[in-house]
Amino acid sequence: MVQLIDGKALAKEVRAEVKTRADAFRATHNRSPGLHVVLVGDDPASQVYVRNKERAAAKAGIEGRVHRLPAETSEADLLALVFELNGDDHIDGILVQLPLPDHLHDQSIVDAIDPAKDVDGLHPFNSGLLVVGRKGLRPCTPSGCMRMLEHVGCDPKGKRALVLGRSTLVGKPIALMLLEKHATVTIAHSRTEDLAERVRESDIVIAAVGRANLVQGDWIKDGAVVIDVGINRLDDGTLTGDVDFDGAKDRAAYITPVPGGVGPMTIAMLLSNTVDAAEARIM
Ligand code: NAP
Repeated sequence: MVQLIDGKALAKEVRAEVKTRADAFRATHNRSPGLHVVLVGDDPASQVYVRNKERAAAKAGIEGRVHRLPAETSEADLLALVFELNGDDHIDGILVQLPLPDHLHDQSIVDAIDPAKDVDGLHPFNSGLLVVGRKGLRPCTPSGCMRMLEHVGCDPKGKRALVLGRSTLVGKPIALMLLEKHATVTIAHSRTEDLAERVRESDIVIAAVGRANLVQGDWIKDGAVVIDVGINRLDDGTLTGDVDFDGAKDRAAYITPVPGGVGPMTIAMLLSNTVDAAEARIM
């Protein structure tokens, strides 16, 4: 009988841990951990994400501030703001909401963030720490997926894990994290042949593609753990993942729903990274 991995409930647990740590930080250092988010332009999805982050930070005892800049902001002005935030001692975490408008280069801006404040874990310095298996700020969505595996008692050691997608944001870092936990990892992407076969042989399936129902239910191995990172909006307005949930739930031991799975974990891990950054910076 399949069990749902309830991302909302687990995220609540993580946020409660964060609040305890943020309160202790404030009691010791006379200030709350500070998270500054930079939003350029008026992309509706980004506005919703940023508002959710702002609200969650306040509830978790983190001093949050959002810098809303017009869509036509120049690279020089955006970099000037990032440098100003880098230099402010009361700010522990800086997040530039991606994607940026077309005339700005996402990676150049991320590269300008002080790696010690890079709570999105996307700075090449932090990616490098992940590659060599050292402590550092790690991307939030993959960290959330790992926390979900841990929560259901799924130890990746020796298991066959398949990651669908090879983005810098999700696919590559989650593959490295699974490897660190001694899984045998396969990374699938748009040129992968025999995707169904790769899924069939996998004990852990992490889908991060962005194509509704790409993974068919009858591909899933009996007893597999399925984490669906994908978020796809159907014509009727509903959200769905990359995995055919109804088919997969007859085979999987554990599966995340979409929505209510990985999504809430991403924000919770961002808050956790902010407290990690605050604690590391005062040491
Ligand atoms: P992305 O940068 O567009 O990467 C998508 C990846 O999927 C690429 O590596 C691509 O391969 C691969 N792909 C495309 N078609 C494929 C196919 N037919 N078979 C296998 N692989 C295929 O996307 P992303 O930023 O990683 O995000 C992936 C999904 O996760 C999206 O739906 C996004 O909305 C969602 N997401 C959710 C959260 C959350 O908090 N829940 C956070 C981040 C992202 P190539 O490299 O060969 O092009």
